[in-house]
Amino acid sequence: MSEEGLRRRLALGVLVGGSMGLAVPALAQSARTAPTVPRTKPVVPPRPKLIALDPGHGGADPGTTGASGMHEKTVVYTVAAELERQLTAGRRYRVTLTRRGDLFVPLRERVSRARAVKADLFISLHADAHPDPGVRGATVYTLSESASDREAAALAAKENKADLVAGVDLRRQPDDVANVLIEMTQRGTINQSRSFAGIMVEALRDYGVATLPRSHRHAGFAVLTAPDVPAILLELGYLSNRADERLLLNKAHQQKLARAISAAADRYFGTRPAQPGPGPAAKKA
Ligand code: ZN
Repeated sequence: MSEEGLRRRLALGVLVGGSMGLAVPALAQSARTAPTVPRTKPVVPPRPKLIALDPGHGGADPGTTGASGMHEKTVVYTVAAELERQLTAGRRYRVTLTRRGDLFVPLRERVSRARAVKADLFISLHADAHPDPGVRGATVYTLSESASDREAAALAAKENKADLVAGVDLRRQPDDVANVLIEMTQRGTINQSRSFAGIMVEALRDYGVATLPRSHRHAGFAVLTAPDVPAILLELGYLSNRADERLLLNKAHQQKLARAISAAADRYFGTRPAQPGPGPAAKKA
């Protein structure tokens, strides 16, 4: 295919994908194979969706520490392992973990690992601490607008664009096309992340998990910066709060958190739930 032809198709895929809020990767892919209008949604997903779970901290970085001496890295890993078990039950999802065991993995490396396996969703798990021991509840974070703009600028300014966005090798694109592609892909990703964050807050409440007021917040967390993988960071509760700490160390509560997150993934992807939970699925029966 000529450079010019590819450029036109890309521009079409980018504009249609952006205005419709659809995943750009699928469009970019169909633009390669089909010469006409890109397909919208495949009827049957070829493989179960791949979810990247990112248990925060690890190794020499324990994260925050509760009154009982429990480390954040341990709590979030336990929840991640339970969540992996629930998500992969019945082969409904594929799951990848950014760290296996008590290892230190740099933040950018966690993002790279999720992108390398083409994860469909990225969920970072953390537990919070606050100087006021009365503060408790879960919070969901997505990337802030300013942090997102900074990332796009950094990626666009890279001397050697040795990177793939939406399945397209940026090195092969003229600068203006590459920059538009980065911007549009990132916009689509951030919209999907925000939509998932909203779903997550609802699911947590449905499952009776306490949440902070203004439960969906925006921040510049480095693990949320993948331009093409929708991502949230979930603070499961406060280790600095006695009630939250007791719950976070409780197996039944850890399972409940995993069920709520799992339900949120089901609602986001439209996957059939493994079992009816205390959410809308249970009320229907
Ligand atoms: Zn943390």
